[in-house]
Amino acid sequence: MSSNNYCSAAKQVCVPGPIIIGSGPSGLAAAACLKEKGVPSLILERENCIASLWQLKTYDRLRLHLPKQFCQLPLLPFPSDFPNYPTKQQFISYMEGYARHFKLDPVFGRTVVTAEYDNGYGFWRVRTVGGEPEGVVEYVSRWVIVATGENAEEVVPKIEGMSEFVGQIVHTSGYKTGECFYGKRVLVVGCGNSGMEVCLDLCNYDAQPSLVVRDSVHVLPQEMLGTSTFGLSMWLLKWLPVRMVDRFLLLMSRLMIGDTAKFGLNRPDLGPLELKKVSGKTPVLDIGTLELIKSGKIKVWPGIKRLTRHSVEFVDGRVENFDAIICATGYKSNVPTWLKDTNFFSEKDGFPRKPFPHGWKGENGLYAVGFTKRGLLGTSMDATRIAEDIEQQWKLSSRNLRPSVLMHHCQSHEFRKETQN
Ligand SMILES: Cc1cc2nc3c(=O)[nH]c(=O)nc-3n(C[C@H](O)[C@H](O)[C@H](O)COP(=O)(O)OP(=O)(O)OC[C@H]3O[C@@H](n4cnc5c(N)ncnc54)[C@H](O)[C@@H]3O)c2cc1C
Repeated sequence: MSSNNYCSAAKQVCVPGPIIIGSGPSGLAAAACLKEKGVPSLILERENCIASLWQLKTYDRLRLHLPKQFCQLPLLPFPSDFPNYPTKQQFISYMEGYARHFKLDPVFGRTVVTAEYDNGYGFWRVRTVGGEPEGVVEYVSRWVIVATGENAEEVVPKIEGMSEFVGQIVHTSGYKTGECFYGKRVLVVGCGNSGMEVCLDLCNYDAQPSLVVRDSVHVLPQEMLGTSTFGLSMWLLKWLPVRMVDRFLLLMSRLMIGDTAKFGLNRPDLGPLELKKVSGKTPVLDIGTLELIKSGKIKVWPGIKRLTRHSVEFVDGRVENFDAIICATGYKSNVPTWLKDTNFFSEKDGFPRKPFPHGWKGENGLYAVGFTKRGLLGTSMDATRIAEDIEQQWKLSSRNLRPSVLMHHCQSHEFRKETQN
């Protein structure tokens, strides 16, 4: 459907404050920071709940990979009785408490299909589908904050013979526990944090997991010298250059977990922090999977060449039978599919073109929160900056009565005024 079709059928809603797209941690953090500065906003969410990635697409045994002090959102810390690595349920309850605390009330079931800047009037038109009652609604505002996340859509690789394979093929977003894989031979494709953890979970449910490791990967112990590896790295980076910290991390890892290459997990040429900086690739923080690989409970395989009805042929020519395949192959941004602006966001990967810490602000009132490849810590930094920036404009426009221009346009087009938060 073209944007014109949407336009002609749309009910229109005028939003005096910013429109925030997405009610994950990033969208909620931006709304809370704005609210604290007296700026109202409206959150649009395609699902029917907040933090939908965490509520709908993550496995049961998930805990935060990083200690809680690096994952809390601005203005409201985690409850003090939470453990250092909160469980998925605890994180969700924190997010729900966060939304309640700041009285954030997203409009659910509204998928943004286009967002376009109207040069003539100087505001954004954000068109949505879905909701109750079902229909097309166009929201209009001077500001749009993109908070749809780095993980908006699943990435599933195309593998030759995929349609022939008779077993189940599922993305990790659809994996909850290893319970239904009891006794089964399961191939997990992808050796990031999720792939490694799913293998561990499968072992706990007496499945027989194998792991495809196509590329090199840095595996680090989750904790070193009695503290979190992430926290220690952040601290060391205050005093030492990245390469020296990397050397330290690799030395400690070697002492603690040995030579991972012996088990098929070759390390990249660049150190873990330098690699993260240049490519965004996150090191795996091991929580026990490596021991199971060492003991042979989890077998490591190279890349897949093709699938047949019951088996998998690997690039080294070996063939093995499997009952199921789990794709731990990650996610991608969906921004290029709906944002009609290619200056700020790259069409290639759906991330802001400017690298961190400059990728939070575009032109004409366009912002991005949560696209830093730095997890929830990056989200907090973005949300705080955005709220400060919009607050200035909000104050200025209130003084100059600029919203009245928007209101006038809205009224002349029989728009409905709506601000939720
Ligand atoms: C398994 C897993 C574990 C993780 N663990 C950690 C961790 O320990 N620490 C950490 O810092 N980070 C972690 N992350 C990174 C994670 O991405 C962030 O924690 C966080 O969820 C990002 O928040 P977000 O709001 O930017 O994106 P999301 O949580 O993905 O929220 C985006 C929201 O936008 C909505 N949306 C998308 N497209 C549209 C549209 N077109 N219209 C309307 N709504 C839309 C989605 O439905 C979603 O609700 C983990 C990620 C995964 C997958």
